[in-house]
Order: sequence, then C-alpha cells, then structure tokens
Amino acid sequence: MNWINQLINVPTIDPDDARRRKLLNIIVLGMFALDVLGIFGIIVVDIIDASPPENITSLYISAITVLAGIVITYLINRYWISWVAGVLFVTLFIIAVSQSDTPAELVQGRAMITFVPAVIIASVVLRPYAAFIVAIVVNVLLLIIGLNAQLEPDPFAVPIFLGIALATWLATRTMERAIGDLRLLNLELEDRVRDRTRELAESLSKTEAILDSTADGIIVFDNTGKATVANPAVSGLLVHRAEEIVGSDFEALMSNAVSTEDKGLISGFLHSQEAPEASVKFQWGKKTLSASAAPVHLESGEEIGTVAVFRDFTREAEIDRMKSTFVSIASHELRTPLNAIMGYTEMLNEGVYGPLTEQQRGAMGRLLANSSHMLGLVNNLLDRARIEAGTIKLNIGDFAPSKLIDGVKGVMDMMAHNKGLELTTNVANDVPSTLQGDWQRLHQILINFANNAIKFTQEGSVNIRIYMHDADHWALAVADTGIGIPEDAQQYIFEPFRQVDDSATREYGGAGLGLSIVKQLVTMMGGWIELESEEGKGSTFIVILPLIPPETEEFTLGETDLAVSDVVHQTETE
Ligand code: ADP
Repeated sequence: MNWINQLINVPTIDPDDARRRKLLNIIVLGMFALDVLGIFGIIVVDIIDASPPENITSLYISAITVLAGIVITYLINRYWISWVAGVLFVTLFIIAVSQSDTPAELVQGRAMITFVPAVIIASVVLRPYAAFIVAIVVNVLLLIIGLNAQLEPDPFAVPIFLGIALATWLATRTMERAIGDLRLLNLELEDRVRDRTRELAESLSKTEAILDSTADGIIVFDNTGKATVANPAVSGLLVHRAEEIVGSDFEALMSNAVSTEDKGLISGFLHSQEAPEASVKFQWGKKTLSASAAPVHLESGEEIGTVAVFRDFTREAEIDRMKSTFVSIASHELRTPLNAIMGYTEMLNEGVYGPLTEQQRGAMGRLLANSSHMLGLVNNLLDRARIEAGTIKLNIGDFAPSKLIDGVKGVMDMMAHNKGLELTTNVANDVPSTLQGDWQRLHQILINFANNAIKFTQEGSVNIRIYMHDADHWALAVADTGIGIPEDAQQYIFEPFRQVDDSATREYGGAGLGLSIVKQLVTMMGGWIELESEEGKGSTFIVILPLIPPETEEFTLGETDLAVSDVVHQTETE
C-alpha cells in the first residue's frame, strides 16, 4: 500500500500544511474514483440502452469537466500552493452542487443541504475560519439564484449555514489545537529521548573507558551465568580473548586451567550470593588468582546478575609462601637452641653442676621464665606459619577430660599462685570419662586461655571447667575475674597480631597470636568459640566441640616438623 501513501502524502516542512494537503488529496482522489465510476456508468447506459436519455452528451461533458477539475486540483495541491487548490476545489464543488438542481430546489428545497460539505471541507482543507466565508458565499449565491428566479428566500438559510459554520469552526479549531499540542508534546518527548540517549551513550563510553583502564579483571554475568561484559584485563588474566569470554559461562572457560577441586569452589562462589567482600583464591594455570563477586541490582532492586573481579595474586601468594617458609625455618631454628638453653638452665637450677647461691638461683629463675616466654612466642609463630601454609594437622585420639584439665592446672598453678589468684578446675558429672580429640592441641588451647586469664586478672580467681553443651557437644570454659574485654574488641582479638590496645600490650606483653591460633584449631576441630565478657568484671572463653570429631587426615605434628626440616635442609644445601 506504499503507492497509496505516495499518492496522498505531500512532503512539506510545515506539518499543518502537509496534513491539509493530505486531507484534500484523500477527498479529491475519492471524488476522482466516484467520477470515473460515474463515467463508466454513463458509457454502460449509452451502449446498452437502445434509447439513451437526451442529455447524455451533457452528462459526458459535466463528468469529464469534473474529472478535469479534480485532476487540476490534485496537481496544484501536490506541486504548488495548497490554499489555491483548496479554494479551487471548494469553488468547483459549489458550482457543481449549484448546477445539480433546479433553482427552486436549491433555494427552498432539500438540495440546500448539499452545500454543507463545502463548508466542512473548506474549514478542514483551508483554515477553520474558512467555514464562515464559504457559508456567507453560499448564502449570497442562494440569494442571487433566488432573485434571478424570483423566488422567496428561505428565512432559515442564513441561521442554518452560520450555525453549521460555527459548529465546524469550533470542531476544526479544537482539533487543530489538539494536534498542535500533541506535536509539541512529541517534540518535547523527542528532545528528552535525544538527551537521555546522549547521556546514556556518554555514561556507557565512560563506563567502558573505566573498564578498559582497570587493572583488575572484570566480568559481568547475567542471571543464567553467561558472561555479558569482560574488560581487557580479564582476558590477560584468564588467557582468553574477550570475545571468547563474552557469551560463555565460567565453567567452560575454566576447562583445563583449573583443578577439579577449585572448579567446584569457584562455581559455588560465583553462583552463591556471598557477602560482597568475600573472595576466593585459586590456581589458574601457573597463576594464583583471587576473585570477589557481588550481585548487580537495578534501581528497582531487581537482581540482574553478578559482577566478578579477578586479581592476579601470584606474586602475593609467592611472597606469602616465602614468608611462611621463612617463619617456619626461623622459629624451628630458634626452638632447638632455646630448648637447650632451658634444659641447661633447669639442670643448673637443680644443682646438677653444684650448689647455687640464693642470688644465682634468682637469676636462673628469671632466665627460665624469659626463655619459656620466648619459647611460647616461637611456638606460636611456628603454628601461625603452619596454619597459613595449611600444613597443620590434628592427631585425633582418646583422652580423659580430667587428665587434660589436671595437666593444665599443673602447669598454670604456680603462675596463678605467684599472682595471688585462685585457680580452680571442674569436670561436670555428665561428661563422658573418655573424649575424642587432639589432646596436645586441646592442652595448648587451654594453656593459652588460662595464661591470658591469669595475665589479665589482678585479683580474684580463674576457673577452668569441662561440661556438656548439648547432647552432641562438649565444652571447655576458662573464666576469670579480670579486666574484661570491651565489646568492640571482642571480634578482632581473634585476628592475628590484634590486641585490645597497645598500652595494655606494653603492660602485659604478648604478641597477639594466641587467640588467632586457638580459633583456627577450634575451627579445624569442627567447633566454635563463644566469648562472654564485661569490662572490669572478667571474661569467659568457651570452646564448644563435637563429641565425634570431623574426619581429618592422620598426620602427626612430627611429620609436619619433618617437612619444615626438609625445607631447612634444602636451603642449607642451596
Ligand atoms: P596475647 O595474649 O599474646 O597478646 P592473644 O591472642 O592470646 O595474644 O590475646 C589477644 C588479646 O586479647 C590480648 O592482648 C588481650 O588484649 C585480649 N585478651 C585475651 N584474653 C583476655 C582475658 N582473659 N582478659 C582480658 N583480655 C584478654
């Protein structure tokens, strides 16, 4: 139907003019079709009818004249001035109508009504006020026809035509205004769309520039897990071209670069809605990468995918490994001579090499206390290094809870006594006589708590007890009546090298490692720690452990030590 559009539409700049030309074209072409049909009808009558009407020739002439008028109007409307075409058309229409009936029918009869379309067409294809002009012209015309034929003029003609003109004028004017308002609205809308498109394009190009210049690798996944955006840095990290990444899911990209174990870890991480700060580290070929992920939300709150940030962690991982190795080697190397120093000091103290004076005994006591403090520190450093290297393993076996608690009391009694504190212990009746776990590590945990409890308590008591937490868990609790721990510090004191405040460190000593090691050990044992504390009133550290420990590989600490010695040996031979 494109040709119809081409026939009726006239391309002009003024939209009102284009609309009027189009309307006139529709009317003119409609009439053209009717006229052609009329001519066809006349031809048929002329051929078929044996005695055609007498005025058939004048019918031909009028039909062809009308056709010529229509064609001229169309051509003027299409290629020249629209109002000329409009005036011509309305004039032709009025002439045609005035010829269609007798003067009496026109002036007084129903034929008067046939002038009404001229009024309406004029207001639509010219201007709304043209309705009045045509109404007046028609009235004048009827008056002239009436006078010529000596007929009485119809008294209703003037009010009827003016009424019709008024109604038409009102309707067309309202319609034109509405169209004008609509056009303005459209223009505004177009302006707004253009502005928004420009803003969007600017922000997109800004986002793209930011993504391109970010050193971290960034991939945006949609809700189905397919990558929709990948920046240049990520293709360097993952050794895949950006075009390969976009459209693929991460599982496909991981194929050969990642171990099966890490694949599960990464997929789980990317598809679960972890906290935004959470991250995972994994091997990608020869590289160590870290990834963090966060959900992407629209302004409406709807979640549309996940953004994952990848970072090359290879150097940091290497440095971490070297640091852990160094700490293990250094602490291991320190431990051996320290044990020798302590052994000889003890022998000297016990008079193995001859009796000591009171002054010498005092000096030996300080020597022993300081070396055992240093040994504790070195042991903690070694444990921390093993935890970071992931080489620490538990040695699970049966033990008697009462023996565990007595052992701790035996070690800590003297320290408590020296500070004038009472150290009490207690094993609840419902605790089984045999428990399962790594006795040595549990001992270490209790010593750590008890040591802190005595260290941070000036007067009162320290109590160590074992009880049943619930049917499946038993608990170790160390309570003191000491300085307590402020609420804000209760979380971070479990992080390595963290203490409540530095002035206290200077007063009480310590490196802030004990609790971080305890926390790791307890986690490995399948348990957790609870802390109840109030400043100035004391603290209770509770370790809750499962009665049946989770399965761990049976590696003894001795074997881990061997691994460290190997490293020592290796470094020595290098
Ligand atoms: P360290 O005792 O060697 O500094 P820890 O990791 O064992 O290291 O303890 C960390 C910090 O937690 C301590 O420095 C201290 O500030 C606080 N803390 C631990 N136990 C207690 C306690 N029983 N009472 C008060 N503060 C404590």
